[in-house]
Amino acid sequence: MGRPDIPLFKIVQRPLLPVADSWVDAAPFVAFFVLLTLAPWLLRRRKPYAHIARRAMQAVSAFIFIIFLHRCLCMLRGWVFALKIVGRNDIIAFGHLCMFVLLVAFTLRTGRTFCGWVCPLGFFNELVSGIARRRSRLPRRSRLIAGYLMLAGVAAVVFWLAYLARPGTQYFSENVAAVWGAGLLLLVGLALPFEFHDRGIKRIKYVSMLSWIGLSAVGVFVTSPWCTLFGDELDYSSGVALISVLLAGTVLAMSWCRYLCPMGAALGWLAKFAPLRLVHLGTCTGCGKCREMCPMGALENGRIDQASCIYCNECVGTCGFAWCDVEAERAAAPLSLSAKVS
Ligand code: SF4
Ligand code: SF4
Ligand code: SF4
Repeated sequence: MGRPDIPLFKIVQRPLLPVADSWVDAAPFVAFFVLLTLAPWLLRRRKPYAHIARRAMQAVSAFIFIIFLHRCLCMLRGWVFALKIVGRNDIIAFGHLCMFVLLVAFTLRTGRTFCGWVCPLGFFNELVSGIARRRSRLPRRSRLIAGYLMLAGVAAVVFWLAYLARPGTQYFSENVAAVWGAGLLLLVGLALPFEFHDRGIKRIKYVSMLSWIGLSAVGVFVTSPWCTLFGDELDYSSGVALISVLLAGTVLAMSWCRYLCPMGAALGWLAKFAPLRLVHLGTCTGCGKCREMCPMGALENGRIDQASCIYCNECVGTCGFAWCDVEAERAAAPLSLSAKVS
């Protein structure tokens, strides 16, 4: 089995725990398992500790998957590749599948803790979203004017950079990620007037997921913003997409994670079945504070959009928001549960 191209910025240049003497590495699987196990446990600690723990875990995860290990976190595309080669090259298929299967299992149990605690792209998105969240606290008219001015600036920068570095290739078939990045800027423009009532727009992420899986299945080598961060694909398209995602996040908080991330869409759908979920135990007076608190726009007058919640913990402890393990509650007090779970 040949040695794959591994970018120089990765500290570990070979598998730490090689599987069957191949270039498939079990170390990222172990790291991923530990992080996903710790997240739901830390989530329930007291607020300042849970917040510190989340930031620390995001930083550790970013270090492990961006700098330390030579492993791509692109599990959605890996899943499609793996299914194509099962029976012909089972070790490589295992290498592509193992992380994705683990992620599916954890998401079915503990929701999108991966997004809020482990995903490095989500982490960077949260860091840049502070600017957007300050803008969204302005009165409606100023909020919209500022949003469109910022979006115009961001679009100008992205398209100028994309033009400067443009490749002389078949643009649309070879640069899917850049097309996704441009689509994100358009979506942000569409969503700005509805940023607090955007549940309909969020459904576009399912179209994004199906298109992305479909393109992978027919053999298009789809790249995405995270390829630049995690993988060995430091290509033009992924670079443009990453810049688009991070700059769009300064205009509308977490816009990539809300509207277009194919992985987020898949996890959001699976999270609807997770027994560990947020519940609202208070009485809503319609003050709108929770709406401003949530980086994902998952709260509206006490109603929780389970598919959008990334388990960031920001709202927990305010106005009756709390974590609930539905299965454990059902076993302990079956009759009172329906009053808690929305
Ligand atoms: S939605 Fe996508 S980019 Fe955002 S945190 Fe989840 S997996 Fe990461
Ligand atoms: S609903 Fe609460 S825990 Fe979920 S993403 Fe929003 S603020 Fe975070
Ligand atoms: S649930 Fe949200 S809108 Fe309703 S009272 Fe509480 S903070 Fe205000």
